[in-house]
Amino acid sequence: MAHELFDIAVVGAGPAGAVAAYAAARRGFSVALIDRHTFPRDKACGDGIGPGAVRLAQQLGLSELFSGYAPIDTVTIFGPRGTRTENAIPTIGGEPATGYVIPRLEFDNRLFRAAIAAGADDLSGTRFLEMTPCAGHRRVVLRDRSGDRRVVDARLVVGADGAYSLVRRALTGRQEPYRSRHAGLAIRAYARSPTPWASAATASLMLEFSRDLLPWYGWVFPVGEHQVNIGVGGSLGTLRERGADLPKLLDAHADAMRARGVICGELRQRRAHHLPHVAGMPRLVYPRAALIGDAASMINPVSGEGIAYAVTAAAQLVRALPARLEDDSAVADALALFEREFRARHRRQIASSRVIITLMKSRVLSAVLVRAMQRDPTVLSVLFDFGPFTASMALRALSPWGSPAAAATR
Ligand SMILES: Cc1cc2nc3c(=O)[nH]c(=O)nc-3n(C[C@H](O)[C@H](O)[C@H](O)COP(=O)(O)OP(=O)(O)OC[C@H]3O[C@@H](n4cnc5c(N)ncnc54)[C@H](O)[C@@H]3O)c2cc1C
Repeated sequence: MAHELFDIAVVGAGPAGAVAAYAAARRGFSVALIDRHTFPRDKACGDGIGPGAVRLAQQLGLSELFSGYAPIDTVTIFGPRGTRTENAIPTIGGEPATGYVIPRLEFDNRLFRAAIAAGADDLSGTRFLEMTPCAGHRRVVLRDRSGDRRVVDARLVVGADGAYSLVRRALTGRQEPYRSRHAGLAIRAYARSPTPWASAATASLMLEFSRDLLPWYGWVFPVGEHQVNIGVGGSLGTLRERGADLPKLLDAHADAMRARGVICGELRQRRAHHLPHVAGMPRLVYPRAALIGDAASMINPVSGEGIAYAVTAAAQLVRALPARLEDDSAVADALALFEREFRARHRRQIASSRVIITLMKSRVLSAVLVRAMQRDPTVLSVLFDFGPFTASMALRALSPWGSPAAAATR
């Protein structure tokens, strides 16, 4: 029986999948954008859209994603000794960089709509179940909300179905979606803040690395008028080894932020999720299939940033594709090129993330790294995008000299 044939079936319509679908539809490919949810849908996240993701979205003609939200260009770090420093978000390619904080409920919905407006077919509310390789395409089996099966064929399947990816399991044959020693866990909530952030020119991404929290981290990201996203996260290994209770860590972090006057009131909409770190990145390409975003473990282990990697990989993958996808070897060559380029571009970051994960497992060494970020703003680049942790940064981090950079004046 003949099934609907698409050039590309994108499984998962988070930032990775929606950007892949958007870019592919703009290139003229027929695209099925599949998600088990309908949009808008929530996703546990700090809602921080980092400078690399912002820059790429602007390059792709998606500047409207940010309309109505104020750009943020500083990072505030509360360090292990109670010090507070505030620095500009590191530049990208020498140019000033900004981020945004946009609830994922809104941001992902905007991205999803942009992909559909660009021409992708809306297969939201449809769950990916399994797929089989066939000559010249893959057959993808889905189940819709009423429980009915739907089968589509695609010349290329893009697995962008997040941390618990079924596509990754189908491609790698491994039961666990990612390696737990290379993963983190984080929980977020929303809270009221006494500060009217939307109108404050003072909004900053606040990161907490206090003695009480290390080797885990906390954040408070201003979402808009009197609202913040607050959360804590850390490596799965250390949480398990030390029997840490993430909701309790979040409560303690919230108490500390209340004492500082950053938040007020109760926490709402708590939600936790795993973060597969980039150190555990699997093979990215397979015959007529590729993995991107959390499904490919593309998360920065220090800050938990994943959206920048997700959207960059999506754009790089689509750019690498040939104009037509019928020819097996042309597709295979393009996919191999995508994987080579992605790894080459991020080689140093991926390698240094292994070092950073080791540092972040130790309370003492993570404190050293945080102090280095406070006293040397160039080390801050490890928090964003693909900033590698270099040998000279390590030396500076271990240096006993230097004092924290000028503390924030506000
Ligand atoms: C608490 C927390 C805070 C974070 N904070 C930040 C931050 O501030 N900034 C940042 O950059 N990153 C942050 N991250 C990481 C970020 O959330 C992820 O890296 C990002 O969501 C990855 O995007 P994605 O498109 O790969 O996956 P997702 O956003 O997870 O999207 C995957 C999509 O696949 C769909 N799906 C799953 N299974 C199926 C299936 N079987 N069939 C069909 N569809 C399916 C899901 O419904 C979902 O829509 C945080 C993560 C956590 C947990």
